[in-house]
Amino acid sequence: MPKVKNWQINRTMEYPYEENRPKKQVAYIFDTNKCIECQTCSVACKTTWTSGRGQEAMFWNNVETKPYGFYPTAWDVKILEKLGPQKWNNNTYTGKTIFEAAPQGERVLGYLPEDEDYASPNIGEDEITGIINKGAFFKNIHSAWMFYLARICNHCTYPACLAACPRKAIYKREEDGVVLIDQSRCRGYKECVKACPYKKTFYNIITRTSEKCIACYPLLERGEQPRCVQTCIGKIRLQGWLSKPEKIDPDNPIDYIVHVKKVALPLYPQFGLEPNVYYIPPVHVPEKFLKQMFGPNVKKAIETYRKVHSDKKLLAALLLFGNTPYIITKFKVEGEEAVGFNEKGEEVVRVPFQEPFFQRPFFDKENEVYRINTT
Ligand code: SF4
Ligand code: SF4
Repeated sequence: MPKVKNWQINRTMEYPYEENRPKKQVAYIFDTNKCIECQTCSVACKTTWTSGRGQEAMFWNNVETKPYGFYPTAWDVKILEKLGPQKWNNNTYTGKTIFEAAPQGERVLGYLPEDEDYASPNIGEDEITGIINKGAFFKNIHSAWMFYLARICNHCTYPACLAACPRKAIYKREEDGVVLIDQSRCRGYKECVKACPYKKTFYNIITRTSEKCIACYPLLERGEQPRCVQTCIGKIRLQGWLSKPEKIDPDNPIDYIVHVKKVALPLYPQFGLEPNVYYIPPVHVPEKFLKQMFGPNVKKAIETYRKVHSDKKLLAALLLFGNTPYIITKFKVEGEEAVGFNEKGEEVVRVPFQEPFFQRPFFDKENEVYRINTT
């Protein structure tokens, strides 16, 4: 099997195909600290792409409460258990990836969820890790915790869905790294559903083919961010392009947050797919849990995030989230403002570090009335 370089686990690994990175790689950053699980993103995606027959239980975008929320049921617990011990030596993953742990004769270690596993997308919602007795109050602020994890297809650099497809129906676009399923080639063998550890390909019982998030590529092609990003109420999301590891551009906000400041981390990097949705970890969750989910650098990421007010450039990059429908390829700090530019170098967004504050005089001279609050 070919050996490919995976920067997220800091080593080479086995993958069924040669390394072939796209010209541009679609990437997202989700700030878990800001998500309120309003599910606007899920609904925006559903009404745009999966409102047809056979797609009833399909959520290309879902948001689950960790630790007890799952869609499909127990997806990560199941694959983590199958994979066995996952060891890191500093930044290097020394355990096996799901490609290296594949059973004899198979390309990927996976499992096929049951139909019922998709029946309760809100299972575990708003459930915390501890039980609070009636009348009790938190002694320590973090004794019981939960957080919201928004999930879409990761448009992985090394997709397990693509690796497992016996029909070669799944491909990664050269121009933007979007992973798509060619519906005319797919015969519905569900190998991709079984292989994707994030369970982000779905089988359609009416068309008898598999379907998945398409990164809203018609929007990407005209320089706009996907629907789930544009509609996000909490402004937790930024979509852009992640440069190849050897060509990092510190003026690209995605590169700056992921590669330079290392504040956003991949989800379960130990699976070995080099996923391209990066998460700013929740600041209030025990480190042990977060390390398993986001890798060994989680503590540093949180420390840097907590100090954002002393780092103007990082603050500027984070202020770009949710403030423009357009894809930002470059950004800069200008005085007390964050400025973002599109691929053509045109300014598409300008956000002040501090929201302007206006106070109207108590007495309105023109109308000769006092302005009083009537609550
Ligand atoms: S729209 Fe944004 S804030 Fe609301 S659930 Fe989705 S990711 Fe979270
Ligand atoms: S997240 Fe799953 S469906 Fe998406 S590219 Fe990766 S392996 Fe394929």
